[in-house]
Amino acid sequence: MEMSEDGKKCCARCKKIKSLEEFHRAKGGRRSACKLCRKTEGDPEARRQQKRHFWAKNKDKINKKRKQWRLDNSDKAKQYERAYRAKNKERMREYSKQWRLDNPDIFKQYTKASYHKHKEKNKEVIQKYRENNKEKIKLTVKRWQKLNKEEQRPKRAAILAKYRASKLQAVPPWLGRELKSEIKQIYIDCPKGYQVDHIVPLQGKNIRGLHVPWNLQYLTAEENQIKGNRF
Ligand SMILES: [Zn+2]
Repeated sequence: MEMSEDGKKCCARCKKIKSLEEFHRAKGGRRSACKLCRKTEGDPEARRQQKRHFWAKNKDKINKKRKQWRLDNSDKAKQYERAYRAKNKERMREYSKQWRLDNPDIFKQYTKASYHKHKEKNKEVIQKYRENNKEKIKLTVKRWQKLNKEEQRPKRAAILAKYRASKLQAVPPWLGRELKSEIKQIYIDCPKGYQVDHIVPLQGKNIRGLHVPWNLQYLTAEENQIKGNRF
């Protein structure tokens, strides 16, 4: 049935029922595709937009249909999904990475929820890992204990400072190996009773300092307190 009784017609392409004026005249009647569909025929961007529009309008219906299909053909669906994943591995990884960067808060919620969901399973995995890697873990603990000795304190302070600075985005990307080791040395050489201080604080009110050698100085705890929030 091409035309309904009330003078309307279903477009062969977009499947919309439209009045006859929206179809071009043709020999013996009207075109099968509506004017809008014919107009966008040779224009890929317009077609894409049309598709997007169609998708947005029929999202629920399409999703329902797809879901039902997946339920009815679960083996085939799994197979398709696996093939798709294998083919688009890199792209999907990039996509998720970008998504995580764009939605840090939602991502945090997800990981939290996922952690609780897999809590028991995680416990099992950790237990198994512990049993299978006893030597390796022993070594790690030893290394950690060594790092925690009193004489390692300045080195630890340097590592911690770098971690904090990186979280505050205060470590410039151009900071090379030499400058990094210079910073470390400043921490290691810190005299007793002094603290390494950022001359311009990394979290200053008006300006933000950088984690670079020329922004570091030694202050006593007292001096540091007096300095307060000058910036
Ligand atoms: Zn149409």
